[in-house]
Amino acid sequence: MSEMNIVVIGAGPGGYAAAIRASQLGAKVTLAEKDRPGGVCLNRGCIPSKIMRRTADAAREAAEAAAFGVSGAASPVEVDMGLLRERQKKIVEAQAQGLAKHFKALGINLVKGEARVEAPGAVEVIREDGKAEKFSYDHLLIAVGSVPASLPGLTIDGRRIISSDQALWMETKPRRLLVVGGGVIGCELAQIFHDFGSQVVLVEGLNRLLPLPGLDEEISKVYMRGLKKIKLPFFTGQTVAEVREGPGGLTAVIRPFSGEGAAREMEFDQILVSIGRRPAVAGLGLEALGLTLDGRGWVEAGEDFRTKAPNVWAIGDCLGPSRVMLAHVATAEGLAAAENMFGGRRRVDYGQVPSAVFTAPEIGFVGLTLAQAQEKRPGSKAGDFLFRQLGKAQALGETDGLTRLVAGPDGRILGGHIIGPSATTLIAEAAAAVSCGLTAEDLAATIHAHPTLSEGLWEAALSLAGRPLHGAS
Ligand SMILES: Cc1cc2nc3c(=O)[nH]c(=O)nc-3n(C[C@H](O)[C@H](O)[C@H](O)COP(=O)(O)OP(=O)(O)OC[C@H]3O[C@@H](n4cnc5c(N)ncnc54)[C@H](O)[C@@H]3O)c2cc1C
Repeated sequence: MSEMNIVVIGAGPGGYAAAIRASQLGAKVTLAEKDRPGGVCLNRGCIPSKIMRRTADAAREAAEAAAFGVSGAASPVEVDMGLLRERQKKIVEAQAQGLAKHFKALGINLVKGEARVEAPGAVEVIREDGKAEKFSYDHLLIAVGSVPASLPGLTIDGRRIISSDQALWMETKPRRLLVVGGGVIGCELAQIFHDFGSQVVLVEGLNRLLPLPGLDEEISKVYMRGLKKIKLPFFTGQTVAEVREGPGGLTAVIRPFSGEGAAREMEFDQILVSIGRRPAVAGLGLEALGLTLDGRGWVEAGEDFRTKAPNVWAIGDCLGPSRVMLAHVATAEGLAAAENMFGGRRRVDYGQVPSAVFTAPEIGFVGLTLAQAQEKRPGSKAGDFLFRQLGKAQALGETDGLTRLVAGPDGRILGGHIIGPSATTLIAEAAAAVSCGLTAEDLAATIHAHPTLSEGLWEAALSLAGRPLHGAS
């Protein structure tokens, strides 16, 4: 049998995972990437933002050091944006080089250039030097990801009106920053710049920050209370109706989303638009395959990631928000699609995907919210436990937060929602409980080490089991 010939467009966490799996299964793989390997995640997303979060945490810790008996920290603390950028560059470049080495070792042909479908079975890559190279394929995987979306009247110019692409790689911190969009990216970046010492205002059109369908409303409430405490001003149910550029900066007209009620005008130096993403399909030539996009422009694929075009598959962010736009989801989809090209029948269970929000405090969630569980499985209930009741949270001096487990009437864990220190790591236990079908009794019967933050999950499970130890019933 001749070797299977697979072309993957896009070396993000979805595309490169698929390339690795396909190569392990014996395919000849060409991986086309117009930028550095690693995709948005490594270059303009997960990793640079978490490096910034680390600096923000260091700044916050330095500012609060006296409360822990440490003297001598500078007041007010200053963030060196140049050093931060150096650290970002070093980490991102090392990771990207590591990926390129790994591809080479596996025999994956990484082709640097912009790929375009010419005709069914044929892809052209325009290399950086302008030369075109043609590739034929038995299977094609579209893993091109997404780019920031802009709002009418708020066109991103990369200078004064910016997207996360620029916000992650700033030379100087903005003095006054308006963040439009209170989703995950907006909240993470608003808090980072607040911790850097910028004057930040956050505006969200819906009636709560982090209005994600999978995140329990109670967590948003705790998060918004926390922002009030740290004096980061935010407006929910509001939008930016107009922006005027003048000598004093940018004047933003902020008014209720409903259109009713008074508008307020505020001045900023920069505006970060984080209202969502759109698929990166411009110039890709999908029409040559007869592929249509859905009503909002996202690529359409079945549960097995097959598109309507023969032997063409699609995964990752370019499928849009109905599949959850996260790096680990793109990876899971890439691995599944590669195996399906070899006759596998892999699917991704989106109901079991944990989400991590790197705000301060962190947020992690998985499975159903309490409202969703009560609608699907009447009699479902929540077991809550506050971080301030944990000795470890008291020792850390990070006492704001809540652990909520949601269980069905049979006690099976259907969801977990945590806001508090290390929530993005703690959520793994709730994710394992949801995916393995564990009950509150199972978690309650598991001994959790003391003093740790994971005791919050144990106490929430005890509460669901009807025998709370330190919490209320
Ligand atoms: C600020 C920010 C923070 C984030 N933080 C997190 C986080 O903490 N955790 C998390 O799970 N997710 C996070 N995400 C989301 C995550 O980055 C994406 O879900 C993930 O990168 C999607 O992977 P992908 O492989 O589908 O696409 P991408 O990562 O977008 O990769 C697609 C690749 O395709 C390339 N490409 C596109 N068109 C072509 C073409 N024609 N020819 C050649 N190459 C092409 C692009 O250059 C890109 O490298 C964040 C995103 C942002 C913007």
